[in-house]
Amino acid sequence: MKSIVLAPARGGHGYEPRRTESEAPRPGEGEVTVSMKACGLCGTDLEKIRGEYTASMPVVGHEAAGVVAELGEGAGGFSVGDRVFPHHHVPDYTCYLCRAGNETMCDHYRGSNLVPGGFSEVFAVPKWNVERGGVLKLPGNLSFEVASLIEPLACCVRAVRKCHVEPGESVFIAGAGPVGMMHALLLAPTSAKVVVSDVAEWRLRFAEKAGVGRVIDAAAEDVPAQVRAETDGRGADVAMVASGSRAAILQGLRSVRKGGRVCIFGVPPKGSVLDYDVSDLYNAEREVQTSYGATETDTKGALRVLESRGAEFGALVTHRFPLDEFGKAVEAASGGTAMKVVVTP
Ligand SMILES: [Zn+2]
Ligand SMILES: [Zn+2]
Repeated sequence: MKSIVLAPARGGHGYEPRRTESEAPRPGEGEVTVSMKACGLCGTDLEKIRGEYTASMPVVGHEAAGVVAELGEGAGGFSVGDRVFPHHHVPDYTCYLCRAGNETMCDHYRGSNLVPGGFSEVFAVPKWNVERGGVLKLPGNLSFEVASLIEPLACCVRAVRKCHVEPGESVFIAGAGPVGMMHALLLAPTSAKVVVSDVAEWRLRFAEKAGVGRVIDAAAEDVPAQVRAETDGRGADVAMVASGSRAAILQGLRSVRKGGRVCIFGVPPKGSVLDYDVSDLYNAEREVQTSYGATETDTKGALRVLESRGAEFGALVTHRFPLDEFGKAVEAASGGTAMKVVVTP
């Protein structure tokens, strides 16, 4: 069985993706194994490879969909051949943080993962995830490629929920990469106005063609001024920062109205210190929110969105590579001329 796993980089900084051949995992008690059919390459996978990722363990591939290959003893509710989405991180849903609504901060949330990761012909889903509802069955009309969008879309669904984005509000999305575009598609039908910015020419053209709203070239235009021009001079109600860059976070802070909310959604690299006058935050009563990961409420919510709007979101997938060409997948996703990159067996 072929897999892509991370090994410490020879230079000592970050990790290198390595292609390995091994025996396919067999499910232990309560586990299921899944034959991967599609697995999205996430910005965080790229960050792990660059050694910039700060949030969890170095396993690549967590946006996978596939078919149940084998069932461990006691793994009820599934049959071999079921088409599924397995969630890689699942909280315990019982601790103080879970009950407070901070499920993705649960001590157990990052404690389990797909083994050896989603970029593998076959991977095991831990009993922990299976018994807590982390494996969703896919409706027949949903392609594996579209199902590979469940995890990233679920993270967007959670961010929208956490920031209480209401219908009729204006939303500024800093970053027109795959998750920025997911936010834009998700919010466009109900928002008064969607404004998207990026610095990459290709992404700007992509966003324009998607017709989600006003598109701002952050390399050439004054972003906060343009967002104000689109929102009666006020600034947006909400800014979704779908980029880990400090410039994007600052644009978010400077583009929301008084009393507006900024959601830090992209993962800032470790050491990201902002040059920002906090008195501005206070005087304008701006709120800063963050959102990390997703729960099963959100994966189910994302699945419902994709059931009815699969074609729209599926159009975000611009590149596909087999496992054998993982290096090309990383190159394409890093190059600024791709939206979502999906890896197939
Ligand atoms: Zn992801
Ligand atoms: Zn918990």
